[in-house]
Amino acid sequence: MRITIQSVERSFDARLHFAVVDKKEIVAASYVGVPESVVAITAGIIEAREVRINDLIFNRSSDAFRRLDRRIGMGDVAHGMVFNSLATIDGINNVIQGDDNSKGYIISVNGNIKDDISAHVIERFGLPIEFKEQYSGLFGFMYEELEVIQNPDFLGLYPNLRAVRFDGNEKEVLEIVESALKNGMLIIPKSEVNGVFNPKWSMKEYMINNAQAMNKLLAELKPLHTMMDKLDPAIATMSRIPFPAQAHVIQGIINGLEISNSEWTAANMGTGKSIQACGVAHVLHERRKRNRAKKGMAVLLSAPGITLRKWQTKEIGKTLPYAKTTIIRSANEALQMLEKVRNGYRPAPGEMEITIVGIDKAKRDAEPYFSGIWKRVNGKKHYGWHCPDCGRQLMKKVEGEWFGLEWSDVAYGEKPSAERLADARVEKMMRHNGIPKDYSVKWRRTKQFMKCSYVLFPKGHVDSEEEVCGTKLYRPAVKNLGETRNTPTTNISKVFKKMKKYFDLAIVDEAHQCKAGGSGRGDAYDKIVKSAKKNLNLTGTLVNGKASSMKELLWRTTPKDLIEKGFTDSTGDLAWAEKYGKLKQVVFLQDAVNSSSAGWVTRQRRKPMQPTEEPGIAPQMTAQFLLHKTAFLDIDDLGLPLVELVEKPIFIEPKPEHGAAYREFHEQMYDKCLKLAHAGAKGAWSKFNPAVLNYAARPDLGAFYNFGFADAIGEDIITAPKLTGYTSKEEWLINQIKSELAENRGVVIYNTYTGEYQLNERTFQILEENGVKREEMRILNESNTEKRSEVLQKYEEDGVKVVITNMKLVEVGLDLLAWPTIIANQLTYEVNVFRQAAKRSHRIGQHRLCKVLIPILNGTQEVSQFKKVMSARGHALMTEGRLDRGELSKYSYDEQSSLATDLAQCFAEADLANAWEELAAKEFEELEMIAESEFQQVLDLRMKELAETTLKLCGVATSPILQNTEEKEVEQDESLFVFDFSQEQEVAEDDGGFISVIDLSSYKKKRTQKAPTENQLVFNF
Ligand SMILES: [Zn+2]
Repeated sequence: MRITIQSVERSFDARLHFAVVDKKEIVAASYVGVPESVVAITAGIIEAREVRINDLIFNRSSDAFRRLDRRIGMGDVAHGMVFNSLATIDGINNVIQGDDNSKGYIISVNGNIKDDISAHVIERFGLPIEFKEQYSGLFGFMYEELEVIQNPDFLGLYPNLRAVRFDGNEKEVLEIVESALKNGMLIIPKSEVNGVFNPKWSMKEYMINNAQAMNKLLAELKPLHTMMDKLDPAIATMSRIPFPAQAHVIQGIINGLEISNSEWTAANMGTGKSIQACGVAHVLHERRKRNRAKKGMAVLLSAPGITLRKWQTKEIGKTLPYAKTTIIRSANEALQMLEKVRNGYRPAPGEMEITIVGIDKAKRDAEPYFSGIWKRVNGKKHYGWHCPDCGRQLMKKVEGEWFGLEWSDVAYGEKPSAERLADARVEKMMRHNGIPKDYSVKWRRTKQFMKCSYVLFPKGHVDSEEEVCGTKLYRPAVKNLGETRNTPTTNISKVFKKMKKYFDLAIVDEAHQCKAGGSGRGDAYDKIVKSAKKNLNLTGTLVNGKASSMKELLWRTTPKDLIEKGFTDSTGDLAWAEKYGKLKQVVFLQDAVNSSSAGWVTRQRRKPMQPTEEPGIAPQMTAQFLLHKTAFLDIDDLGLPLVELVEKPIFIEPKPEHGAAYREFHEQMYDKCLKLAHAGAKGAWSKFNPAVLNYAARPDLGAFYNFGFADAIGEDIITAPKLTGYTSKEEWLINQIKSELAENRGVVIYNTYTGEYQLNERTFQILEENGVKREEMRILNESNTEKRSEVLQKYEEDGVKVVITNMKLVEVGLDLLAWPTIIANQLTYEVNVFRQAAKRSHRIGQHRLCKVLIPILNGTQEVSQFKKVMSARGHALMTEGRLDRGELSKYSYDEQSSLATDLAQCFAEADLANAWEELAAKEFEELEMIAESEFQQVLDLRMKELAETTLKLCGVATSPILQNTEEKEVEQDESLFVFDFSQEQEVAEDDGGFISVIDLSSYKKKRTQKAPTENQLVFNF
């Protein structure tokens, strides 16, 4: 059975495997033949030419198509496959995007069409898995079996292949499920939940009917502390008085520690986690004093090494000056302390002693030593690193290709010379690892090269299990072998554990950094937690990352909670992430030669890779394990004002020569990508944005793009000339930086294309050429997130005035207080990266006016990108409840042109800058901002007022002068939500406690409050 296509001069044909057809349209086809014919048939179908199978003529539909071409055997035969992009093959891969679409194809290779339909609707419409047996029946009228043309010669390949067309969009599908629930066709499985349910009820009726049951549940769960409750008077005796919000957190944690041994505080940066920690220690201490405890209080504080001095002098020293602090710097000091404790030492009654230890030191066991062997590569003259276990040469991946690992990949300094090696061999001074005994090496300990490179594809370069090695490449250094001069160190955290709960409280700063189970830090964390009766964990990023990051910490602090939920200490990260996080599984299509057939036939085998975890945490995890023992504090809860922030886009006209060259390049790229997209090429537009954006930014590099699309469309190269001199935007940047520096304002410059396009280096260079001093500038490209804040701190100490970096590197966690001007020299399409990066200097502690300047080269893709970012920002603000749906259109550009690649889109309308500034104002509407000139005065006054409020909450009398302002502050705290209660719906009177159910859609926006989701209902007590 043949598949044939007729081109202008000749006809091509190949042997058909199978084809799925929807009346006269091809849905999918698979065939083999000589490469030339297979390529021509694939291209022909994609270009919508007629295709013939035996004597029948088919066309393709107007949907997008995907293609797979590959050489098989010796390369003299090719396998081709085309399929409609709306097709789901085997139920799960390639799920159709977009919920408006009503058409979809399901191709079931194994013929289990019912299972594949179920998998398809569950995945595509998010239907509950509980009814999976019923879906194929329920949606029976929505799908239609398609004709499958099988070549009898290849019937052995896919003997059961079946396919259906599914017609139905999300709305229709959900309606069917809803009515099936109501009329009893789908029955909700029994559960242990104590309540009543009638499928005919609306959500509101459901809530009213269950009000009593829920009320009972809620009554059992009384909060440990509310904003209405009194604070412990001890808080008023701290040397630094916390703000009311911080004082409430302290009280909440104190109450929590009474019933649990482990509490958390998720304090965002700037919310004062150190004052919270000091406060907790202080109140516990004061309570012991009140109870006339016979011993004083012992506290263990672990924190990152660089912050120890700061903790000792600035935090504890200023907040609890009476506390005696000791920093443990070595294992010996820890051992001396252990000796003392074993001899019965305890702090004297009425005293508090805080022992401070660096978590980096506490975890230290032995110096790691690289275990690779440096020897001649088999059959070659040069040397390379070899695995100590499997003996093969260690490899690294560079831009998709594998190369031998070099000396400098794992060690600092020069590799030993050939002479040196020869001498060592003669003198018998060679170590087992091929390095002379007197040659000292410092290891890089790069994360990438921690394990033997022979692991499975795609991480490694091995594709069969038998070849896998992956052995660990670091081991402890051995002193006897001369690998280290240090005697083996004692692990400090182990020493603490031996003190048998000597400490009353362990405070772990940056607890999230201890997350990795089995890592040194995780281990040290475990020991530190076990050395104290209670622990308090401080973190700024509790739930920003991966779900598994919390697992180990919870396991070490509150294992009972996890055991109750059915987890054990052997629960893997993936099992945890499957329940509480986000997993990504990549499926590769692999050729497998099918020897039962004609020998050279291949079929595709789906090869799912080990799933990997992505950042993302399910609300259930927070609810089940964290909510009852964590105090969350946000910066706007503090009630402090911020200094003024302005955001300003600046549209700059390009120089005529650049403008003209740019336009030509843009149009050529546009035409080419459009053509490729029409022809169904995958990722046709992927080169477009980087190409045009970079020619806008760096015309000095010129542009050269090879599309290398060698078949039907022909090879194509698009170029643009190299232009010398500065662009008009670069000239603007130079002037702007000079004027910022003249006002002694630090500047951060964000670039996006920092890799091969070297935007950071270019920025550095043009500024240096124009008189900005080298020593005043730095390019920040520290890839280690944890080290980045140290690096920035160093810059600040060194008086660095200009920091050039990729926006992505400062997206979270860092503060850029020393650089109040931010210039987004290049934008990014990821709007949240921009929103986060733009706020990095605008935080509590900033006293200078903050500027965010966005220079944009008019008439280039930068304008189109800017519009796109603005639309996305508008959408984000709407979901957050800061912008009404009606206002959105003002800031939104045609979503249809989501690629927005047309040159016509690239010009700034007169009011574009205004629209952006308006939108920015919406984003900051909730913040109280004060002009730089008055800021310090307002801030001082406010801090005084807040401290007075705390004192009052602690029941301590305050001076009458401040009484007025105080009243105002307290008033603000009184109601947690501001709702429009006019539409209340009455509930039966005996529902003890519940007054009504309110629809939240008429919710009023209030400062510092995020809007709830639409159509949400709430009980009013
Ligand atoms: Zn190996």
